[in-house]
Amino acid sequence: MISAVSRADFDQYMVPVFSPLDMIFVRGEGSRLWDQEGRDYIDFGSGVAVTSLGHTHPVLLKALTEQAGKLWHVSNYYTNEPALQLAKKLCALTFAERVFYCNSGAEANEAALKLARKRAVDKHGPEKIEIVSFNGSFHGRTFFTVSVGGQAKYSSGMGPNPPGIVHIDLGDEAALRRVVGPKTCAIIVEPIVGESGVVPVDPAFLKLMRELASEFDAALIFDEVQSGNGRTGALYAYMNTGVVPDILTTAKGIGGGFPIGVMLTTAEMADKHFTPGVHGSTFGGNPLACAVALAVLEVIASPEVLAGVKRKAIHAAKRLRAMGEAFGCFTEVREAGLWFGCELAPKFAGRAGDFMKVSASNGLLHIVAGPNVVRLAPSLVIADEELDEGLDRLELTCRQLSA
Ligand SMILES: *Cc1c(COP(=O)(O)O)cnc(C)c1O
Repeated sequence: MISAVSRADFDQYMVPVFSPLDMIFVRGEGSRLWDQEGRDYIDFGSGVAVTSLGHTHPVLLKALTEQAGKLWHVSNYYTNEPALQLAKKLCALTFAERVFYCNSGAEANEAALKLARKRAVDKHGPEKIEIVSFNGSFHGRTFFTVSVGGQAKYSSGMGPNPPGIVHIDLGDEAALRRVVGPKTCAIIVEPIVGESGVVPVDPAFLKLMRELASEFDAALIFDEVQSGNGRTGALYAYMNTGVVPDILTTAKGIGGGFPIGVMLTTAEMADKHFTPGVHGSTFGGNPLACAVALAVLEVIASPEVLAGVKRKAIHAAKRLRAMGEAFGCFTEVREAGLWFGCELAPKFAGRAGDFMKVSASNGLLHIVAGPNVVRLAPSLVIADEELDEGLDRLELTCRQLSA
């Protein structure tokens, strides 16, 4: 018999790297979740931009259960049909010519960074290992990816970090020109910065990165772990920038809730440098994850779904700006498709976590991006009524907190 569990068990049994809210969810359907007490919540967080098509979407459920009845795992000594079908689809839909699978965003970035260094060292010698990254960026929690990420709180306190990584400010053209040079093997950037507030990077700055990376034969890596897979209304955010990277990493929403990470790249980047044995993953490319991701992409890449993202985004942004003004809670609402960063007014400085808690008590789940930004990332196929119901609940939160 399975014993009943409660939030108190978390503190007793779990490593305390997280401190979750009190409720425990037991079921989800579309954009709604239910907790152990039977209370319902509108989901504007999507498990941090992961459940891109909501919960238990019928197409994904079918793909998962059909594959579950056929084949779960064979290892990379063999390939499998879903992995190849997904790879073909990703190459057809993007700049990519080669695909590498893993299980998370951090692993996708780990693969990208290793590939960039390997290729540079193979082609130009052992000095070409420098990685240019940006302050405030987030690329995952492995030791290499926290070191490359631009947030000292995640990378410090564990002894020496890997060498050759420099961080500059986004938008600082002079600094970019100064640090990119013959020793640079990669420039890595989130084209829309997620964890630090849903902040789009100026396409002109991305273009300069592209020019400098090409000039010095370094890899331009776009981390689209969060911005990809339809979140912005484009299939991948790079498609709206006029800049094409050499490597694109993604995860989160591509699995719709099933763990998968993907690195997309070109034949020129990969073929001579990521040769058999150089890199790998036990679970990467497993049939279950690939079957679900294929179904996710089939739904998301449809013109109706992407157009729906843009239409709902305009509506939600309008309402968010109106409530921001009415209650004096947001100074700015940044919108990137169904992905919003609501910048808190000075009188609410540091209180994004309070918004999250009060919203939860009002039956709304959203996330934060640092202490001063309320972050929303609803399902890309959220029903219009549920979007409005969630916005009503957020309005209640603003009303209560500003009272
Ligand atoms: C979430 C995130 C990651 C890390 O993904 P994990 O699956 O948690 O390893 C990396 N980059 C960006 C931009 C992210 O938002």
